[in-house]
Amino acid sequence: MHDGHDRAIHYLRVSVTDRCNFRCAYCMPPRGVKWLTRAEILTYEELLRLIDVFSRQGIRNVRLTGGEPLVRKGIVEFVAAVKKLGTIEDLSLTTNGSLLPRYATALKAAGLDRVNISLDTVDPAGFMKVTYCGRVEDTLQGVKSALEAGLTPVKLNVVLTEALSTADLAFFIDQVQRYPIAVRFIERMPLGGRGGLASGPDIAAVKRLLEEAGHGRLEPAAIKGNGPARYWRLPKSLGTFGFITPISEHFCNACNRLRLTADGRLRPCLLSDREIDVRTPLRAGASDADLAELFISAVSAKPQGHSLCRTSGYPGFGRRMSQIGG
Ligand code: SAM
Ligand code: SF4
Repeated sequence: MHDGHDRAIHYLRVSVTDRCNFRCAYCMPPRGVKWLTRAEILTYEELLRLIDVFSRQGIRNVRLTGGEPLVRKGIVEFVAAVKKLGTIEDLSLTTNGSLLPRYATALKAAGLDRVNISLDTVDPAGFMKVTYCGRVEDTLQGVKSALEAGLTPVKLNVVLTEALSTADLAFFIDQVQRYPIAVRFIERMPLGGRGGLASGPDIAAVKRLLEEAGHGRLEPAAIKGNGPARYWRLPKSLGTFGFITPISEHFCNACNRLRLTADGRLRPCLLSDREIDVRTPLRAGASDADLAELFISAVSAKPQGHSLCRTSGYPGFGRRMSQIGG
């Protein structure tokens, strides 16, 4: 299905929970978070029905996210149920990695294709500063478990903050030299959090530091992905570096996605607060055709673009990243 700006929409990001075992500075306040109640979040049966209906409207790629998707009980069985629909060609999950040592093998067996893991720094103190309560050893073990389980290609998400050091860049260079992983640097967006963590280097500085430390020029790499990252490769590397630039270089013209929040709202654009309630009609007995209509209206509501930029100041958004589903 195409939206009003001639973009093909085939990718759905599904938030299965707003809860998380971390409190990243750019995503959640450390305490006092008001969680959705059990009654407010969509059940797995409801989520499955929506994915089924939406897949008949052209959704082929589904990413499970949150909050932290691995804290929701029954996630492995849910992955298996989505896979069993038979219509989703690429089923992936974004995670902070801390619970992957426990779940990676079972997720792979259930049919999950691959994972993206958030890892902003490998320094234990820096990691704690970003996540407030996370242990970097757990996430590193999670990366290892994902590679061993074959949840590949593994992608690492690195939000640019002051926690990113030259030692981190050396670690990431070593990883891409040894493994076919993608390390993606992401500009931080104004989507909630506790603050107290300064911005890090900009994308140009990261590229320069990677070339200096990697002893070579970054060459464009032809990696086909579902997302907005543009990929580059250092000489003699198995893996790649990606750069995701929602602020310095918009990629709205290539946007291919919708988001479904844990409380059942279709969100046409991450950076616009417009949402379409599907939970109320779903629970009031909507037919598949009614739900498909809501999907079509969300696709047509996709704006042409957003206006975030370095100098315009931040408009502020009604919901945090963890509530929308990053
Ligand atoms: N808990 C999982 C995780 O951290 O990977 C999945 C949910 S998280 C909201 C999804 C992604 O959004 C993560 O890679 C996270 O780093 C990123 N993210 C969260 N807040 C962000 C922000 N304000 N700007 C840019 N990326 C952000
Ligand atoms: Fe949790 Fe992910 Fe948000 Fe960090 S970015 S607080 S891990 S949902």
